[in-house]
Amino acid sequence: MTTRLTHHTNEERQTRPVHISPNVVCGDKALWIVAGPCAVEGPRQLEAVTQTLLPLGVTSLRGGVFKPRTSPYSFQGLGEDGLALMAEMKAQFGMTLVTEVMSIAQIEAMLPVVDVFQVGSRNMQNFELLKALGQIDRPVLLKRGLCASVDEFLWSAEYIMAGGNARVILCERGIRGVDSETRNILDLGAVAVLKQKSHLPVMVDPSHAAGRRDIIADLSRAAIAVGADGLLIETHPTPESSVSDAEQALSFEDFKALMAHIQPIADAMGRPVSQQDVALCH
Ligand code: PEP
Ligand code: MN
Repeated sequence: MTTRLTHHTNEERQTRPVHISPNVVCGDKALWIVAGPCAVEGPRQLEAVTQTLLPLGVTSLRGGVFKPRTSPYSFQGLGEDGLALMAEMKAQFGMTLVTEVMSIAQIEAMLPVVDVFQVGSRNMQNFELLKALGQIDRPVLLKRGLCASVDEFLWSAEYIMAGGNARVILCERGIRGVDSETRNILDLGAVAVLKQKSHLPVMVDPSHAAGRRDIIADLSRAAIAVGADGLLIETHPTPESSVSDAEQALSFEDFKALMAHIQPIADAMGRPVSQQDVALCH
């Protein structure tokens, strides 16, 4: 049995930070807060989001341009036009960009623009895609499959790392449960287990776990308290008109309230909320 690359190899059991840009890192002291719309819908939407996030110290913008939708008749994302809009936000405001890759064919167009390649829940076991991402020099945010065990999740990370790409960030986004009160069950026990088993940073996405906006701030606090290295939050200028995941999108007001709500927990855990503060400290 070969040693698993995803597992701790020393007694220290410490998280090994993943560098995203010179000023942005996940798995170090500061939390990595990623926010933005479920899907990129147009320039006005994306600019409004970016301009809201910047003063709050959020350095990474998320936005889907290739969207995995349950129905083939639902909006599938703006594709490369959406990628160009994301690139514009990076050029104008210096945001680092996180977006989902759904197929090997999309990688080439994404490389010049995207800082972190997200693998969605539905693709966690797309092994050919994972192998291809093992060959690129870019961090990968790997989301846990809809029904995946912790071990299956770590084996998927192993595929990327075995190819030579060590910059993998795990993301717990909820697993299928029995209760329709929430879209999924946010498995915070898995976050604790992942931190224990692996040196990889672990993010939490309370938006897709909850599927409803009213409990996202509380789940965010719990995620930080259990040791998550960051949060992935969906926010939209007019949540009710979001083309996808409208029920879980936070308004800007809600997002600002969330940032204030997590502060005391982040302080208690000794984790700065803003990466900009960390950059200033160095
Ligand atoms: C998303 O982040 O927009 C997304 C589709 O997430 P997941 O793969 O976790 O469903
Ligand atoms: Mn979404």
